[in-house]
Amino acid sequence: MKQKNLTATLRCVTRPTSAQADKIKTFLKEKYDCSDVTLNIEIDPSVRGGFILHAGNDEYDWSTRSRQEQLTDQIKAARDKALRMKKDGTLMTILKEAIEQFEAQAATNEVGYVETIGDGIATISGIEHAMYGEVVVFEDGTKGMVQDINDDGIGVILFDTDGLIGQGTKVSRTKLQAGMPVGPDFLGRVVDALGNPIDGQGTIDSEEIRPIEEPAPSIIDRKPVTTPLETGILSIDSMFPIGRGQRELIIGDQQTGKTSIALDTILNQKGKDCICIYVSIAQKASTVANLVNTLKKNDAMDYTIVVTSTAADAPSLQYIAPYAATSLGEYFMHRGKDVLIVYDDLSKHAVAYRTISLLLGRSPGREAYPGDVFYLHSRLLERSSRLSDEKGGGSITALPIIETQDGDVSAYIPTNVISITDGQIFLESDLFFEGQRPAVNVGLSVSRVGGAAQTKAMKKASGSLRIDLAQYREMKEFTQFASDLDDATKRQLAHGQVLMELLKQPLNHPMDQADQIMALVVADANLLSDVPVDQIKDEETKMLAWLDSEHSELAREIHTTGELADDLKDRIIAAAKEYRGLEHVSHS
Ligand code: ATP
Ligand code: MG
Repeated sequence: MKQKNLTATLRCVTRPTSAQADKIKTFLKEKYDCSDVTLNIEIDPSVRGGFILHAGNDEYDWSTRSRQEQLTDQIKAARDKALRMKKDGTLMTILKEAIEQFEAQAATNEVGYVETIGDGIATISGIEHAMYGEVVVFEDGTKGMVQDINDDGIGVILFDTDGLIGQGTKVSRTKLQAGMPVGPDFLGRVVDALGNPIDGQGTIDSEEIRPIEEPAPSIIDRKPVTTPLETGILSIDSMFPIGRGQRELIIGDQQTGKTSIALDTILNQKGKDCICIYVSIAQKASTVANLVNTLKKNDAMDYTIVVTSTAADAPSLQYIAPYAATSLGEYFMHRGKDVLIVYDDLSKHAVAYRTISLLLGRSPGREAYPGDVFYLHSRLLERSSRLSDEKGGGSITALPIIETQDGDVSAYIPTNVISITDGQIFLESDLFFEGQRPAVNVGLSVSRVGGAAQTKAMKKASGSLRIDLAQYREMKEFTQFASDLDDATKRQLAHGQVLMELLKQPLNHPMDQADQIMALVVADANLLSDVPVDQIKDEETKMLAWLDSEHSELAREIHTTGELADDLKDRIIAAAKEYRGLEHVSHS
């Protein structure tokens, strides 16, 4: 059906001749299928030349201003390209080419107007064709991302809340998905959720912009997890090994050492050809600053990127931070590199998403989260995988962190993330307060795919560890009120106690794989059972240092063969006995 009348506005510097005006009217009649057009003319010197035509939700920009902007953009892009090539003389050639090939396009754009604004959310009417996740630009240059599309208009989350946006502010589509600048220069830097540096060390040259939401690699493009990612934490590497490309959840109550485990894992990647990305979501800026200091002190910033959104940031930035960081990781993964990403933490991420959803007027479901909150984390963690050799063989290993309340793993968000990941390291407050740190609960933790990535040596050394610990726990419960115990029980209790002591590990002291194996072998041979409990850890540390200096061939052999032959095991035991013997001599 023909629309009867269309009102359009023409902004220009000089009034068009009637022939020109007729031409515009004919264009509009055809385009909008209407019989009559009313053309309002506004004189606007800022247009500089040409004109801008508004009709319905569309804007046609044939102005000199827009053409000048397009040319400037193209020259800027050409300059960046030349700078990246870093060759003398190329700059002029590329610039000349860019100017010669320049062809101004009439910028046709769909525009809308802000209806409501507040709390980092704007609702916009007029834009009818926006895509989910598309970037829109407000008149003052502020950018936002489309998060909600409904009959009356669209809902947009803002990336910057300091702008001058009010009701009626004009908004235009960009037809681009939100992107994150990426490149090798990001290594060693601290950036915000949009990729802007916040460490005061100047700008970062990015190589490209990657969309923050990428589909996960397909099954055909993946390969099984077979290479270990060593955390340097004995309790994890021995019983819950993690492989490159795996997703292992770290879960526990507040202040149980979750961040510390992730941080120690990053420290342990030094010299292991693995790029680390730490994403802080809605944390205090001071906490992040401390973490960056620890990374710097341990020379770990060279291979690490920190992406942060603090508690003071808008929920929109907290919401996109993990996706943006994953795009950075994907840049390296697609170049054949191994990447480790820590998401600290996804509980706060879910809360940020809940805030956004409630502000956008979506109906709340269980625990007031929107219905699609499962998809929030599944589409994020599904992007971590190990690529096939044809795709370069790179990987992203994810360590998402979830905070529980009162150890309740059956709450909504914890169960969701447990079901998405390939296992979990469960940290327990009781253990933490007893001084058993890292407070890994051996019974409730699991790693579903990492076993395939564990070295034969570690598999052999840690073979009976879980069962021994389980028996110890059980026996401890039963015997706590018993007074006379038989010798076998006493021995088993003592052995369990040695193992529990071995698993204690101070902060920022990742353990080398060979040391871990030797410690387990020595404990398994009952060579530490006679040491008083409070001295076991000390004795172990001293013994390992002695083994490393006096019998360095043992560690070397473990590293080169990756196996623990019976003969090697015997030699480790013999060397440990030698050390213990020496000690007895020196004590007496
Ligand atoms: P939050 O819930 O606040 O994020 P969290 O679970 O991430 O806390 P951390 O910040 O890692 O916990 O650790 C809490 C405190 O426990 C810190 O002061 C840290 O130094 C200490 N801690 C963690 N692990 C160990 C350890 N293995 N040995 C000694 N102290 C530790
Ligand atoms: Mg923490």
